[in-house]
Amino acid sequence: MKKLRTRGTTPELKEEQMDHIVKTLFPAHTNSIARPTPPIAEEQIEPFTVDELLKAAKTLKRKKAPGPDNIPSEVLKVIAENRPQILLDMYNACITSGTFPDTWKVQRLVLISKGKGDPLTPSAYRPLCMLDTTGKLLEKIYDEIFHLDMPEDTTIVGYADDIVAVITARNTEYAQRKLTQERWTAEERGRWTARLLPNLVAWSTRKHGDLDYYVTQMLTGHGYFAAFLYSIGKRKVARCIYGDAEIDSAEHTIFQCEKFGPARICLEEVVGIITPENIITKMIDSEAAWKLIAGFVENILRAKKPDLDETAG
Ligand SMILES: [Zn+2]
Repeated sequence: MKKLRTRGTTPELKEEQMDHIVKTLFPAHTNSIARPTPPIAEEQIEPFTVDELLKAAKTLKRKKAPGPDNIPSEVLKVIAENRPQILLDMYNACITSGTFPDTWKVQRLVLISKGKGDPLTPSAYRPLCMLDTTGKLLEKIYDEIFHLDMPEDTTIVGYADDIVAVITARNTEYAQRKLTQERWTAEERGRWTARLLPNLVAWSTRKHGDLDYYVTQMLTGHGYFAAFLYSIGKRKVARCIYGDAEIDSAEHTIFQCEKFGPARICLEEVVGIITPENIITKMIDSEAAWKLIAGFVENILRAKKPDLDETAG
């Protein structure tokens, strides 16, 4: 705090100046996904216990600036130790109703002047954000509880009311070994998908690449492929409707079918030769390649669908 005090306080700013600085430092998210949490039936919920409350309260840091409610953590610790029921009733009401009160998502913002630069520009400030300690304590109780049930190597990532468990690499590798040994290669679809996804760790930790309807068809081999439709009784023959193969599988359609030769050549001029063994690696390594390949798969499957429908077989 001493360091901050010597830097000087925030100069008086007009409302619109402050507004501009705050909006620049905290741009609004346009793509945030709000998922309503359904209330949980009361009998399914284990209420928080005094023990869990006290354990969580112990982890609250002292000497921290309070949030908008102005309740310092020291006060909350005292309440937790002496009158835990007050807090338990409140937190248990939160978990029963499946809510995380909006007021606890509001942060108190303090702009600390860096002491240099134009005071009207956002870069002249270091923003500090303070959440209500009361809300932080609820998050800590969740942490406490989830902590007990989580396997080793699992990290909890909490975003206020969204609590997400992330499996770390060691677990994924373990999962990969298990899958490979047990049933990954046991069935045909598994074999095809295993060829495409030799490295499950890279796949599951990829930074981009949403699965769409067409990429999913490629990955599973289930889709607009005559061999697949034949296997589920929807077609009488497995041969390619374009006449260049006896078995029209995902592999044939995407990697071999002459009908899509020109489109494939265009794609390969940019991303290099594609094979079942390298296609996913190319997609994971580059977001641009992901988009191009996913676009190619979508285009050919979209073009093929009406042709399949038209051809009895
Ligand atoms: Zn073909």
